[in-house]
Amino acid sequence: MSQEVQVGDRVRLRKPHPCGSYEWLVVRIGADIGLKCQKCGRRVLLDRGEFRKRLKAVIQPAEPPAPS
Ligand SMILES: [Zn+2]
Repeated sequence: MSQEVQVGDRVRLRKPHPCGSYEWLVVRIGADIGLKCQKCGRRVLLDRGEFRKRLKAVIQPAEPPAPS
């Protein structure tokens, strides 16, 4: 089961960045996956295999549920 991500998705990785954040923004999809830390703004590139290993969850874009 593979999780598809797109530019603009937010993802959560298994290990935190040294700054303490688990959340990253997907900024590039290619041979490598470009990620930008949501706390400190640092960018990293992970190859697809490494990205899959580190990926914990995709945080879907917030679609606010219709209030009932
Ligand atoms: Zn960071």
